[in-house]
Amino acid sequence: GEELMNKIVSLCKRRGFVYQGSEIYGGLANTWDYGPLGVELKRNVKEAWWKRVVRERDDVVGLDSAILMHPKTWEASGHLASFNDALIDCKVCKSRFRADHLIEEALEMDVEGKSEEEMTKIIKENEIKCPTCGNADWTDARAFNLMFKTFQGVVEDQSNVVYLRPETAQGIFVNFKNVVDTCRVKLPFGIAQIGKAFRNEITPGNFIFRTREFEQMELEFFVRPGEDEEWFEYWREFAMNWFIELGVSSERLKFYDHPKEKLSHYSKATTDLIFHFPFGWEELWGIANRTDFDLSAHIEHSGKKLTYYDPQTKEHIVPYVIEPSLGVDRAMLAFLVDAYSEDEVEGQTRVYLDFHPELAPIKVAVLPLTKKDSLKELAMKIYNRLKKLYNAEYDEGGSIGKRYRRQDEIGTPYCITVDFESLDDQMVTVRDRNTLEQDRIAIDQVEQYLRDKLGF
Ligand code: ATP
Repeated sequence: GEELMNKIVSLCKRRGFVYQGSEIYGGLANTWDYGPLGVELKRNVKEAWWKRVVRERDDVVGLDSAILMHPKTWEASGHLASFNDALIDCKVCKSRFRADHLIEEALEMDVEGKSEEEMTKIIKENEIKCPTCGNADWTDARAFNLMFKTFQGVVEDQSNVVYLRPETAQGIFVNFKNVVDTCRVKLPFGIAQIGKAFRNEITPGNFIFRTREFEQMELEFFVRPGEDEEWFEYWREFAMNWFIELGVSSERLKFYDHPKEKLSHYSKATTDLIFHFPFGWEELWGIANRTDFDLSAHIEHSGKKLTYYDPQTKEHIVPYVIEPSLGVDRAMLAFLVDAYSEDEVEGQTRVYLDFHPELAPIKVAVLPLTKKDSLKELAMKIYNRLKKLYNAEYDEGGSIGKRYRRQDEIGTPYCITVDFESLDDQMVTVRDRNTLEQDRIAIDQVEQYLRDKLGF
């Protein structure tokens, strides 16, 4: 597991997917910057989600709300009161842990919603051992709020405190009425948003899996009370299928249904789509039936009527909501892990990323066999046409073998090679990343060929 993770991290750095944040200053812990190929992959992941969740559906609309929100939002959502992690320290080796993680790992017990006192009691009574030193001598657990705090305006005064949103969901709830009043939506309908979220996580780590600044793709799907359970099932399946459709092996995906008795107070049902990362099975996508908890809380705190007039029953109702919430960075890591492949070619290990064409940062590379002018000219002509259709790359540097290896490592599905014969027969060689099979095709057939192979 660790070896695979190291290979992925090093490939990401070497090929310009992900760099350490602020590296020239020694790095800022657990921050990552997406390089030229990483930004393409990330955009493709977001687009694949937006396309299937918003554009291809008639019952979901999009939104892009502000990161900074009125502080009352976080009172209503419960984040100010309870969005905290309980921290606990080992008295012997001084290691610090999240109390809930300690309990979850040692006892396989979900403790969402439990107080610091309760968690302290569980840890001490069960004599849970410190993962670092093996002792079971703990301090009491203390609360720590996960929200990033800052000031709006120049005066650093308590009245100017604002928070960086810890989730994108609340931006959707506070705009519920705006969307209902302006966009002709009819129940059931959803509002989707992609954007940054910030959490002062105690134990970030595992590369881009858990960071303090990350991006979420969230959908709040509003339904009539009574229809919530079937829609919950629907979005649960949707989540699994989204990954499978984008090429992820079903062996790496599983559902984890939170046991009913352990659900947080606002949730009627929660399922995590979990993924087999090199460091274990971990949450990828959380799907929750949040009932009318959020809208009701905002009604209470804002005094506004966040209701929907149901023409069927001629009643004003507060809809229930199903929330599928997926991390962009975490999804990216899952795609990278799933795509990472090695095989043997001519006695040597070849590394390639087996990305679904929709996700591949570069769809096609055009490579003249040598730097000779006549070949360059023809290759550039082909490249200039293709780059209007796809994210394409032109590369003439180094031996053809090296250039193929680079394209394999960045997951480019097709390479087009222009050789001396091409000048005579107006044909080129197209090489398939996975099978390494080569097709000789006419230059004027290249676009059609790629359309058929890529599927778009
Ligand atoms: P965890 O238990 O792992 O902290 P969570 O249950 O708090 O996660 P949610 O609040 O359900 O997570 O967030 C929804 C999704 O957002 C997660 O499934 C994950 O994909 C993503 N996510 C949450 N926290 C982070 C983070 N710190 N870094 C990257 N992605 C995150």
